[in-house]
Amino acid sequence: MSISEEALQKIVQSVMENVERELDGREGIAHQTTSSPIIPKKMKAISLTGNSSSTLNQRDDDGVFTNVNEAVEQSVKAQATFVKNISLDGRTKVLQAIKDVVLREKRDLSERVVQETGLGSIEDKVLKHELVVAKTPGVEDLRTEAMSGDNGLTIVEDAPYGVIVAVTPVTNPTTTIVNNGLSMIAAGNSVVFNVHPSSKLVCGHLVRVINRAIVDAGGPANLISMIEEPTLETLKELAAHPKVRLLVGTGGQGLVRSLLQSGKKAIGAGAGNPPVIVDETANLEQAAKSIILGASFDHNILCIAEKEVFVLKEVADDLIYQFLQHDAYVLNRDELEKVMNLVLIEDRLDKNASPGCSLQTKKTYHISKEWIGQSANKILQKIGIRKENARLLLCEVDFEHPFVQLEQMMPVLPIVRVDSFEEAVDKAVSAEHGNRHTAVIHSKNVDRMSTFARAIETTIFVKNASSLAGVGFGGEGYTTMTIAGPTGEGVTSARSFTRKRRCVLAEGGFRIIG
Ligand code: NAD
Repeated sequence: MSISEEALQKIVQSVMENVERELDGREGIAHQTTSSPIIPKKMKAISLTGNSSSTLNQRDDDGVFTNVNEAVEQSVKAQATFVKNISLDGRTKVLQAIKDVVLREKRDLSERVVQETGLGSIEDKVLKHELVVAKTPGVEDLRTEAMSGDNGLTIVEDAPYGVIVAVTPVTNPTTTIVNNGLSMIAAGNSVVFNVHPSSKLVCGHLVRVINRAIVDAGGPANLISMIEEPTLETLKELAAHPKVRLLVGTGGQGLVRSLLQSGKKAIGAGAGNPPVIVDETANLEQAAKSIILGASFDHNILCIAEKEVFVLKEVADDLIYQFLQHDAYVLNRDELEKVMNLVLIEDRLDKNASPGCSLQTKKTYHISKEWIGQSANKILQKIGIRKENARLLLCEVDFEHPFVQLEQMMPVLPIVRVDSFEEAVDKAVSAEHGNRHTAVIHSKNVDRMSTFARAIETTIFVKNASSLAGVGFGGEGYTTMTIAGPTGEGVTSARSFTRKRRCVLAEGGFRIIG
């Protein structure tokens, strides 16, 4: 039998009248009007619609804090409640609730990110949100090792650290919160984010939305939280807080260095400059399509994105022909100079460079922030070329060119012709600058694949596919937004944010020594 809203109201009304009549009839009660302030308040607490979410999450429990200490203390409380009161099944429900809300809000989040940061493509950011929801592992990623024998049973568990502080990059602000957040709480931790300041509004919005979802799913408030006005100072305070057990940083080398100097356990995911080798055995059409996909995705702001190509000279023209068939635009010498003037800033004379006989000194550059993460069409338009469908700009350059050496993070891909595979490997290793982040090869020669993989030693090595396959986008395996090369955790997941805990039942728990 179903009761209508109107009928429910009538029942409540009549119960109230009965209670009030009863109170009116009692001896010794001074207050005998029908407007008792106590009774109606209690009756109002009954939800007629069944929607209680708005009453559960109060404003000071929304996960966004102005004060570092308050954020950490609330995070400590949330983590303790989480591991004490929520079962592994409950943890999975919380993770699913976060995934559901992110999937529902993916377009709005992507639009907000582009609006606030000015970087990347809305459509590609929608795909990134879908990727982290679909491919971030949960509690199933945790492992328990067991050893048994005459002396009993020993198990080694993946246990939480407690409160984690995580730093996020401007290039993947919301998707790093979602991916890190899912992995860290799957492992039983809580996390306080110090996000990139240029993404604090969208991150604040996301943290509030996630908090509401967690609370509605039965989890504690502030399991995922952030500092409202993140700065280097707030990060310093967070890192120094005695109740913070682990630091996780995703960004450039400066961030990773500073976390490693903190004196705390730190997981650092730093910069890349992924090279691609294309040899004469490769399927050139497939290579061109894959390179365009990876290098143009989100306007090349991903750390794994193809940043420079070394192609064997005998197939260089054919590869460029294939690029032209698939929405790439090749800059001529004049256009390349215009793009360089636009996006490169000469920073200083390199004092270490030997002037040599010609007395020439080496110029060094950095990338103009204004052009990071902008579209190929926008760059073309700025140099006076009207094009609608260019996804990637290509240019033929020397190995020393700043587009090869710098992590430029825009859809301008330099191509270097090489005489031999050995030369390609040497140059690719050198252009990667020892980041050991990501590298790609297009070849049918398995020996060459192994040779390049061994020489470059990157955390992610992709063969005959786009770099995106390395994080599970069109490739097998789970995804991450935090590729921890410098500290060795690699493609991070829940397990990366755990500490090993050994639990021993000696002598089977029975035998008394003596
Ligand atoms: P960034 O290094 O400028 O900033 C990243 C974060 O670190 C921000 O929150 C920033 O406020 C903070 N930060 C910067 N310098 C710091 C310092 N010296 N001390 C303490 N904190 C500092 O990087 P970004 O521009 O936001 O992101 C792009 C960079 O991140 C690229 O180099 C890219 O390769 C890298 N990245 C790496 C991964 C990975 O998984 N390895 C993932 C995404 C991005």
